[in-house]
Amino acid sequence: MPDAAPSRHGAATLSIDLEAIAANWRDLCARHPSGPVAAVAKADAYGLGAAEVVPRLVAEGCRHVFVAQLAEAVALRPRLGEGVLVAVLNGVTPGSEEVFIRERIVPVLNDPGQVALWRSAARAAGRALPALLHVDTGMNRLGLSARDVERLAEDAQSFAGIDLLYVMTHFVSSELPEDPLNVAQVARFATTRARLPAARTSLANSSGIFLGPLGASDLARPGAALYGINPTPGRANPMRCVVSLDAPVLQVREVAAGETVGYNATWRAERPSRIATVAAGYADGYLRSLSGRGVAFFRGRLVPLVGRVSMDLLTFDVTDAPDLASGHTLRLLGPELPPDALAERAGTNAYEILTALGERYARVYGPVRPEA
Ligand SMILES: *Cc1c(COP(=O)(O)O)cnc(C)c1O
Repeated sequence: MPDAAPSRHGAATLSIDLEAIAANWRDLCARHPSGPVAAVAKADAYGLGAAEVVPRLVAEGCRHVFVAQLAEAVALRPRLGEGVLVAVLNGVTPGSEEVFIRERIVPVLNDPGQVALWRSAARAAGRALPALLHVDTGMNRLGLSARDVERLAEDAQSFAGIDLLYVMTHFVSSELPEDPLNVAQVARFATTRARLPAARTSLANSSGIFLGPLGASDLARPGAALYGINPTPGRANPMRCVVSLDAPVLQVREVAAGETVGYNATWRAERPSRIATVAAGYADGYLRSLSGRGVAFFRGRLVPLVGRVSMDLLTFDVTDAPDLASGHTLRLLGPELPPDALAERAGTNAYEILTALGERYARVYGPVRPEA
């Protein structure tokens, strides 16, 4: 494990493997021959650090970046070359048009109001402005409805001054390849698109790429799979593992049979036990729902989390790991315990595990290695 910065001594070390992320992007490119593959880097690249992740992917050849909010795009734009499209999924809001134009950031237009706003901005700028258009095909979250598109199609001026780079939609259940919604959404998308000005298409998120020809378009938009989350749940994960988290053991204590550990005494020792206390907690994004369910690895052995997850501390039963001592580290995430596996124990998905990763960890950009 690389040395943490001195200011982070005593903190857990989060290793993020930029080469593995680049390898995952190349892998997705090979699986999406119909068009290029973007990088979705919202929420600080799913918690892994957009300022490091995105330039590495651009160096690899990625030319399309999606974030959720304008502020995320403004932070990234100066780090990327002019040839890179930076798009904001949540779109343009009144008053923000000038920032988009000045910073050369492209909005995804999600409703007739945003289309009108961008059309006015183009008129005021005296030139065509680029945009993507999001049509909803079943998510009912963001995007023009079929009815919105019909109304806009009635007026030839609806898209005047808007340079439509892509028309996109977003899958509801692409991680479930048998879900009939996938086919239905692609059919609705084809119908809606026929009413719009000609533009390239953007369809698949991570799992959508694995739908094969059904998910093929002119631009794929994966996030999760880049960061090692399994895009094919229920089957082996085809992506490389990108993160590891190693927490230092602050203390090892002997607990007599019958004693309890942690808040509200939810765990009671059935035998004389050894408890290792490590430096991480729910304030670091180690979800409190992992109380009594989490696990860690020490030299290849699984040790169970016992008692409640605290704000800054976790307690593990290391009775069966007698060689463990204070100063050693426990592996909380890594190839032997990927985000998908921890998510299952926490009753959530791996997206939440990654985006919750805390700011107190010593972050190291380097290779992720097996624990033992
Ligand atoms: C988050 C998001 C993606 C990426 O989805 P993953 O499942 O992480 O690959 C793609 N498109 C849109 C519109 C999104 O909001």
